[in-house]
Amino acid sequence: MPEDNFHEDPRQHILPVYRPPEEVFVEGQGVYLFTEDGRRYLDFIAGIAVTALGHAHPAMVEALRDQAGKLWHTSNMFRVKGQEELADKICRDTFADRVFFTNSGTEAVECAIKSARKYHWSQGQADRIDIITFTGAFHGRSIGAINAGGNPKYLEGFGPKLPGFVHLEWGDHEALKAAAAAPTAAAIFVEVVQGEGGVRAMPEACIKGLRELCDEHGILLIFDEVQCGMGRTGKLWGYQWADGVEPDILCAAKGIGGGFPFGACLMTEAVGAPMQPGSHGSTYGGNPLAMAVGNVVWDVISDEAFLANVRRVSGVLQQGLKSLADTHPDKVEAVTGKGLLTGIKLKADPKTLQGLCRDANLLVGVAGNNVLRVAPPLVIEDAHVREAIGVIDRALTEWKLP
Ligand SMILES: *Cc1c(COP(=O)(O)O)cnc(C)c1O
Repeated sequence: MPEDNFHEDPRQHILPVYRPPEEVFVEGQGVYLFTEDGRRYLDFIAGIAVTALGHAHPAMVEALRDQAGKLWHTSNMFRVKGQEELADKICRDTFADRVFFTNSGTEAVECAIKSARKYHWSQGQADRIDIITFTGAFHGRSIGAINAGGNPKYLEGFGPKLPGFVHLEWGDHEALKAAAAAPTAAAIFVEVVQGEGGVRAMPEACIKGLRELCDEHGILLIFDEVQCGMGRTGKLWGYQWADGVEPDILCAAKGIGGGFPFGACLMTEAVGAPMQPGSHGSTYGGNPLAMAVGNVVWDVISDEAFLANVRRVSGVLQQGLKSLADTHPDKVEAVTGKGLLTGIKLKADPKTLQGLCRDANLLVGVAGNNVLRVAPPLVIEDAHVREAIGVIDRALTEWKLP
């Protein structure tokens, strides 16, 4: 038997695309994570806005255990009852008429792009292929998604940029009007709260403006709510803060599975109709295990009382973060984001600060543009917020700007 220290570096065979810290978490309970040696961490990043109901939520655990003993997988060549149930709930509670289930956010994005193009193609407008996106966007890591995101760092080394993506400066209204008016325009594709790009919330008036622009030119509006959706902003979807706006397509993932990997592409009947048998597919998408968990998560989060509590507790968090900005004006520039997807914009790279928080048993994330990302489970209580704010406060005091 090889000894425990058989490998010099236990990560030597892992593709080195991530650089995680040393901690190994072996258990989670609610808003806390535990290491092998029993150290407890307050989890205010939630697997990047994924574990919305915290760790080991009893109803999710029970649903998964129950399903695991019955049936794991048949593929989409057979009906999956859990899909039909969850799609019914989603369409009852949202703008959508049709749902495609995926295994990840990126795949929901791929489905959205394909559906948008197919829609125009079915209208006899095959030239309408351009997906209009914005600086700071993040839509995933597939070849399609990195081209949609347009971040040069993520495109570098991976071959030529694909045609059919138009990338605009966030806030450049003139360029946006021109791009939307182009005869090749297919859709505007946007995160209403940018996650990776620096936790930036789009003003509600802009969300409305996008809808009007799309209607004016007969193009589709697609919201990537993989990170900001599923109750994270205090509404089921982040776009619902803008009155009267509905998209044609919406991408969901992360929180929708609460830690079980799955996503969904929601769309109207008009967009869904051309996606006929053979036009798209997935072996695992919407498999019984994912659906068992997804139905539970949906029931909990779509409840208005649950969402009202998210709004309440996010007020407490925002207030705490603002107080940090007031106490540390030399280091904090602004508090950004919406609901429980928040950022502390700093005057330098936040990696060291993130490490100081971790040393004090608080897990937070980072995002583009010197932002410390705070995205706790939606089930946090006021006491957890106070604990986290206390840790960040002390870490900010200790943190030396480079
Ligand atoms: C995380 C994320 C994705 C990609 O989701 P994966 O599950 O990692 O494929 C896409 N869009 C947004 C806005 C995201 O935050």
